[in-house]
Amino acid sequence: GDEFLIVLTAVEAPDAAARVAEKILERVTAPFELEGHQLGTSFSIGIALYPDDGRSAEHLMKNADTAMYHAKESGRNTYRFFDEAMNANALERLYLENALRRALENSEFDLHYQPQVDLGTGHIIGLEALLRWYSPSLGNVPPIRFIPLAEECGLIVPIGEWVLREACRQARQWQDQGLPPIPVAVNLSAMQFRRDDIVATVYRTLMDSGLKGQWLELELTESLLMQSGPDVEQTLGQLKALGVRMSIDDFGTGYSSLSSLKDLPATKLKLDKSFIDALPGDRRTFAVVKAMTQLARELGMVVVAEGVETHAQTAALDEAGVDAIQGYAIARPMPEEALLNWLNLRRKA
Ligand code: C2E
Ligand code: MG
Ligand code: MG
Repeated sequence: GDEFLIVLTAVEAPDAAARVAEKILERVTAPFELEGHQLGTSFSIGIALYPDDGRSAEHLMKNADTAMYHAKESGRNTYRFFDEAMNANALERLYLENALRRALENSEFDLHYQPQVDLGTGHIIGLEALLRWYSPSLGNVPPIRFIPLAEECGLIVPIGEWVLREACRQARQWQDQGLPPIPVAVNLSAMQFRRDDIVATVYRTLMDSGLKGQWLELELTESLLMQSGPDVEQTLGQLKALGVRMSIDDFGTGYSSLSSLKDLPATKLKLDKSFIDALPGDRRTFAVVKAMTQLARELGMVVVAEGVETHAQTAALDEAGVDAIQGYAIARPMPEEALLNWLNLRRKA
């Protein structure tokens, strides 16, 4: 009668089933018109997962049915897993997602800036803008907790746009105040490449802020760059044409294809913290870092080590030929005011 069965194959994680349920609810609960009348429906969805919730079709359907009754009990237009632990997970995620949806309009985001310092000259060669979220109900939520979620539900597009806007506005303001210009780096997620017209967004943001392209750097992850189909290549070419700089973030964590480095328009390579963590003790890691650095420099890139925490690491990186470092050894990511103080003190020293 009024029950439907949906079979999802190739579901990699329970989250994916939850996301499908959310999408269905979003669509079917929207009011619609029938013969001149506005109508609304309510749906309840129960989810059972193979093989944990049943190995036969019958067993799975029975448990999905039980889960559906729990969904109904908890007030319709919702979904429930058969497994309680998964419900707790899904609820937490839903809560976080709802909080995230409101975060932009409530101005709960902020950017912190972390300097990158040239090992030879001591000059600051860049500032990485890092997103911070203070939620009144959840407190400070670290990016590793909310960025993957924002990517999953598409919120990364408006959030990423805000980050771009804010970083460009800030960089331009510093220049207007007479600070020596420093490139500001913004992290881009793969989703922004797929879901947004990133070229148009960057172009518009530069125009609106009045910042020259050369003072904006886009940090792209290796995995994004390596999935380079013709689309990605074209997009990278267009971004380059806007005059912005590009860097490769977290290098060495993915399927680092050394040979594909030569085809990328990036001018900076950021060695992932996992390598730095093994220094100075691990000579084999040192050898890898040294080789990657040499190759990248031969290709005309500047090499920056990320997450440098100690002087011993700094010395090892210097020996390996790395150009610059970013990490607690120099400075933590700082809000604007603290950064300006830090820059001031440094200039006097
Ligand atoms: P990432 O781009 O690789 O940024 C570097 C991360 O390392 C930052 O973490 C930074 O605070 C941390 N870090 C820097 N120096 C040190 C150090 O010496 N020791 C240790 N333990 N950590 C250090 P954070 O701010 O938590 O950001 C984590 C990740 O979240 C970033 O990694 C980036 O992938 C993502 N992210 C941050 N902001 C944005 C954003 O605006 N957009 C997007 N798409 N992703 C962002
Ligand atoms: Mg980064
Ligand atoms: Mg990184």
